[in-house]
Amino acid sequence: MPVERRIAVLKERASGETRVSATPETVRKLIGLGGSVAVEAGAGLAASIADEDYRAAGAQVGTADQVLAGAQIVLGVQAPDAVLLAQAAPGAWVVAIHDPFGRRERVDALAAAGFEGLAMELMPRITRAQSMDVLSSQSNLAGYKAVIAAADIYGRAFPMMMTAAGTISAAKVFVMGVGVAGLQAIATARRLGAQVSATDVRAATREQIQSLGAKPIFVENVAGIEGEGAGGYATEMSDEYQRAQAELVSSHIAKQDIVITTALIPGRAAPRLVTDAQIATMKPGSVIFDFAAPQGGNVEGTVPDQVIERHGVKLMGFANTPAQLPADASALYARNLLNFLTAFWDKEQGGPVLDDEIGEAIRLTRGGQVVHPRLLG
Ligand code: NAD
Repeated sequence: MPVERRIAVLKERASGETRVSATPETVRKLIGLGGSVAVEAGAGLAASIADEDYRAAGAQVGTADQVLAGAQIVLGVQAPDAVLLAQAAPGAWVVAIHDPFGRRERVDALAAAGFEGLAMELMPRITRAQSMDVLSSQSNLAGYKAVIAAADIYGRAFPMMMTAAGTISAAKVFVMGVGVAGLQAIATARRLGAQVSATDVRAATREQIQSLGAKPIFVENVAGIEGEGAGGYATEMSDEYQRAQAELVSSHIAKQDIVITTALIPGRAAPRLVTDAQIATMKPGSVIFDFAAPQGGNVEGTVPDQVIERHGVKLMGFANTPAQLPADASALYARNLLNFLTAFWDKEQGGPVLDDEIGEAIRLTRGGQVVHPRLLG
């Protein structure tokens, strides 16, 4: 008989983190797989989940040390520090968002303590891993929230309204960066009745923009990214492209009311897309939401979690956008982790066993060593 796997769900410790890595629904299913689940008291409170709901789903609820005692699998949203995990089983899996390039010291400490860190944000973008893709599930919600937050501080309405007192014209929304977050931002702004345009460096997004009823704005004279490169991610563009893009943006942005920027390049600082001089051409009262604010910002002057006014334009961005929707973000994140553990659960072993493709992509540490190729050499 295999030994029952003990799964610990920790309360998040990072400031501003409201999400939780398991919900009563996923707890029930993890137990159904053959695990036992222990949840740290208060772990779900910020996501509107009471300890009692976890208990009703079959989890034990206790202090961090109690839930970690002998745990072979530790679940988190943001990876916990190794010092917290002293009670966990030797070699335990730590399944979370590790931010390994930004928080290398945390990875080194997990290695030194002998844990196996699994970075969910490094999940390969292959069809069978789509249901485990935390970047997609969280970016999708964040793209929605970006538009809602911008609409909330914009002093005008989004839809066109014809009233007895006169007509209000529709807001003009420009989305820069059309990945998962950008697509949801376009869809949300359209639902609110805005006139939407969007741009990206990847040619494949042109059709996606059109299919959502928005207008594509593309650099035409310099080649962008034609095919879908590694996992569909963008790379840094040439100087020539960046100049052409800046010119195009300058002429377009002056006519916009709301700009939502979501451009990211994995493992790099976010590309700068909007300069202070460009902001100065916008109408007073316009709003720019910089989704990339915590990665260095697409927009000059944004500060995470603050509304900054420049030339009469409000600049904003959250340090942690998915954390603004704790209940839904937790529900989807928890299902990503459940799908991951379920896909690899081996009945005979009584626990998950990774295959090479996904294991090598997400495993940061094992056997006391840092093992991820991107962290070596
Ligand atoms: P991302 O968060 O890395 O970047 C957001 C967007 O910014 C991307 O569309 C990128 O092209 C764009 N960008 C980068 N530099 C830019 C610049 N200078 N100007 C304008 N735009 C710029 O991307 P993402 O949301 O993770 O999605 C990337 C791709 O991966 C998409 O095509 C998405 O559909 C695909 N994807 C595939 C899977 C899967 O197959 N499992 C899962 C999720 C996403």
